[in-house]
Amino acid sequence: MAAMLDFIQSLPKAELHVHLEGSIQPETLREIDPSVTLEQVRQRYAYTDFTGFLKAFAWVARHLRGPREYGIAARRLLEALAAQNVRYAEITVAAGVALWLSLDLAAIHEELLRAAATSPVKTFWIWDVTRQWGPIPAYTAMEMAAERHDDGVIAFGMGGDEAHGPALWYRDVFQKARDRGLRLVCHAGESTGAQSVRDALAIGAERIGHGIAAHTDAALLELLARRQVPLEISISSNVRTGVVATLDRHPVRKIFDAGVPVVLNTDDPPMFGCTLNQEYALAAERFGFTRIELEQLARNGFRYAFAPVTA
Ligand SMILES: [Zn+2]
Repeated sequence: MAAMLDFIQSLPKAELHVHLEGSIQPETLREIDPSVTLEQVRQRYAYTDFTGFLKAFAWVARHLRGPREYGIAARRLLEALAAQNVRYAEITVAAGVALWLSLDLAAIHEELLRAAATSPVKTFWIWDVTRQWGPIPAYTAMEMAAERHDDGVIAFGMGGDEAHGPALWYRDVFQKARDRGLRLVCHAGESTGAQSVRDALAIGAERIGHGIAAHTDAALLELLARRQVPLEISISSNVRTGVVATLDRHPVRKIFDAGVPVVLNTDDPPMFGCTLNQEYALAAERFGFTRIELEQLARNGFRYAFAPVTA
């Protein structure tokens, strides 16, 4: 086991699906806001279902009030990634939430660039919007993202409550984002079914966040494999949010064996009690991924990165 962990540590890795606001360790939140106790954070992170998770995410996000707080969060996340031999990261920032809270997103982005400049992890940013809020506010976030396309914002995405924000609402804003040079990602098939993944593909998503519901639809799996559309899979996340009933029922093996490109990610590491290395270890221990397959997963992180990069 120790040998496997050493092997995983030694793999150069990329992290393509991690939310800055969801990456905040209890100690980091204390650094951001000393009035919060570690116990309070742990209680908030002890939700029991997907709705509870979204509430916990919103709670922690509300402590990020400006560049200082975002900068601390980014520095601590990048330190954690570097320590796991992560060489490349695309970090998602909830731009829609920041704008909704009337935060100075332009100044925040400048601070995030400063944080990344001192890290050995080559870093880009994905700005995402909250799908249940509808497409109107998404245009503002998209415009601001596009203005920063040459300044580290590489993609535009969407997360939140799939059941109350169909991807098809976002066809036009996604098209405009693409026209402005942004790459496109979309959470889909996480808390709802395979049709959500099809809808994300229909609006141009190039990578699917989670997408695990695809395993219930053989034709969709075949389509994803044929078009080599990667699924950003976060095993612990799916168990903790309850979208899969138990760890052993996670479809990562089935999806991988169907020839769909899989990239392993953490999503929101402290909120799910995971690290990227632990996700690789889970794949090995619980789903029988061999070292050669783990190497393939790690290579996929670079292959499906939006910036040209090699391990
Ligand atoms: Zn996510």
